[in-house]
Amino acid sequence: MKSSFKILGSGAGTGAPSFFCDCPGCREARENPARARTRSGALITTKLGNMLIDAPPDLRTQLVRERVEKIDNVLLTHWHYDHFGGLGELEYYVKLVRKEPIPLFLPPSAKAQFDAAFPNLREVFRVMPWAFMMEYRFGDLAITPLPANHGVETAGFFVKSPKTSVAYFPDTAGLPKVTTTVVEGVHWLVCDATFYGENWYPDTHMSVEEAIDLGRKVKARQTVLTHLSVHYSKPVTSAELEAAAALHEGVSVAYDGMEIEF
Ligand SMILES: [Zn+2]
Ligand SMILES: [Zn+2]
Ligand SMILES: [Zn+2]
Repeated sequence: MKSSFKILGSGAGTGAPSFFCDCPGCREARENPARARTRSGALITTKLGNMLIDAPPDLRTQLVRERVEKIDNVLLTHWHYDHFGGLGELEYYVKLVRKEPIPLFLPPSAKAQFDAAFPNLREVFRVMPWAFMMEYRFGDLAITPLPANHGVETAGFFVKSPKTSVAYFPDTAGLPKVTTTVVEGVHWLVCDATFYGENWYPDTHMSVEEAIDLGRKVKARQTVLTHLSVHYSKPVTSAELEAAAALHEGVSVAYDGMEIEF
């Protein structure tokens, strides 16, 4: 069985298409479902099991679409609805199939929020706050939560296998220095490119251009743009995003189901 890092969702909080929007990006996603973007999350598959990074509200459709049959660990980058809203989707899997709680690694500050939001999921998860800069080992895989710039306490995950490395930062505005030091030279930087055109929230997100610059700055071999909104400051289609990325060597646009081999 091959190991992989799969993008389950590549959209920002609104998803594409959005039920309330008829911009060219949403129209493209309605006409061609392969262009749709569910909310951002990823799945790491190794011979030891499946690790879910974030639980977006679209989790059920993502797992069905990718034919994922088991989840062994869940890691959350931060406590925003588009990244935790799908936790409840794991309830029946745990109760009917797994029959023991799933380890859920979350930001230390999110523990109280989890307890307040999901009192009915206490038996579904074994909640464990992660620590920044701590290396968690799963077989020959090492995962390190690194600080991101996103207002609330947020990590990106630096994932290292014997073959490759992935830095997954779906929500961040640039990277703190301490994080840049670790991420420098990474094989795959998968990062926040929420805005096309003007960045409305320069302290918490990046634009496509800023994400491409960040990839250059940290000398990533490949930069993958994700957490894409197709309709914030300037509506854009996936075809247009791909054309923009193609102007830069080593830059690509994430899509739902995109796979990076470990
Ligand atoms: Zn739209
Ligand atoms: Zn967020
Ligand atoms: Zn987000």
